[in-house]
Amino acid sequence: MSEGPKHRVETLAIHGGAGIDDATGAVTPPIHLSTTFVRGADGSYPKGFVYTRSDNPNRSALERLLAALEGGAAAAAFSSGSAAAGAVFRSLEPGDHVIVPVDMYHGIRKLLHGAYIPWGLELSTVDLTDLGALETALRPNTRLVWVETPSNPRLEITDIAAVAELAGSYGVRVVCDGTWSPPDLQPSLVLGADLVVHASTKYLSGHSDVLGGVVVSRKEDRFFERVRFLQQNEGAVPSPFDCWLTMRGIKTLPYRMRGHCANAQRVATFLAEHPSVECVHYPGLIDHPGHEIARRQMKAYGGMLSFEVRGGEEAAMGVAAKLGLITRATSLGGVESLIEHRASIEGPESLTPRNLLRLSVGLEHPEDLLADLEQALAG
Ligand SMILES: *Cc1c(COP(=O)(O)O)cnc(C)c1O
Repeated sequence: MSEGPKHRVETLAIHGGAGIDDATGAVTPPIHLSTTFVRGADGSYPKGFVYTRSDNPNRSALERLLAALEGGAAAAAFSSGSAAAGAVFRSLEPGDHVIVPVDMYHGIRKLLHGAYIPWGLELSTVDLTDLGALETALRPNTRLVWVETPSNPRLEITDIAAVAELAGSYGVRVVCDGTWSPPDLQPSLVLGADLVVHASTKYLSGHSDVLGGVVVSRKEDRFFERVRFLQQNEGAVPSPFDCWLTMRGIKTLPYRMRGHCANAQRVATFLAEHPSVECVHYPGLIDHPGHEIARRQMKAYGGMLSFEVRGGEEAAMGVAAKLGLITRATSLGGVESLIEHRASIEGPESLTPRNLLRLSVGLEHPEDLLADLEQALAG
């Protein structure tokens, strides 16, 4: 896209990555499957590409787009959200101390315990909604605070600006897993995070057909160079086709998010009033403990919610079993609504309540979603 006035997110989502293809005039970008690129007679690389593990036209277009959408200086795309998170943790040094929240995506907690603590990281798990607790947990060797907001699966809201200010005053980097609040729902970098990580598997690609992740950095600093080094030299990168699919998904991201947010608000309100539901976790509800912070730092409250069913695990499983339109499956952020009993997928160490169901509210008509939930909750 040519330099010009700063475009708004709907425009960037469509035009922020690749323009018209110079070689063919194609409006939709071609997919560059070639793993290798020709050298000039003088040994140079006239188009800037060498080998697809290091860089590829589809990947660099996706990275430009993601950096533009987040307002970052640079982005590195990975083959999964977990690979993106892994590159961030391994850009630290053995002996460094990391702080993570109590409620977070269980897969990243599993990686920390199974790989990065054995590798040498020190870890503290802290309630990041409590700034006093964060300050107490900081050590001389603390190098990174990992924030996830809204969190998976309990929708806890962390005040990114407040955490960034406190951590920043100790020279500690803040990374936000923004998977549940894709651009431009929450401007994590503008709020003060140094890096934002997304599982592009979810809302960014948006159609449950691509696995991917990204790290976007506010600055092209030494730390980001290390993330880039791991990406290019280990090669946990998305294929050209996956990059292309993710870019296609992003074109409709701002409009999809409006639908997800509106539907989730409807569903959350319905569930909050239902006698078979003990409680609903959704930051768009006025009595959610993080509502005020979410109102300040998010443009809307997202498409994810969870709720606790009266009668314990068996009742929750019973509700999930009776749903017809809403599909029982893991993952989230696609156009179709998905429901999941989290505790049973998270394993024996799970802190998630046994009666909790997590719902990724899709883009079906909200009345159809409410009707499906109504019949399932009726028992
Ligand atoms: C899904 C998810 C991830 C991991 O992404 P993968 O692409 O499955 O590796 C990380 N963080 C959050 C919040 C997620 O929901």
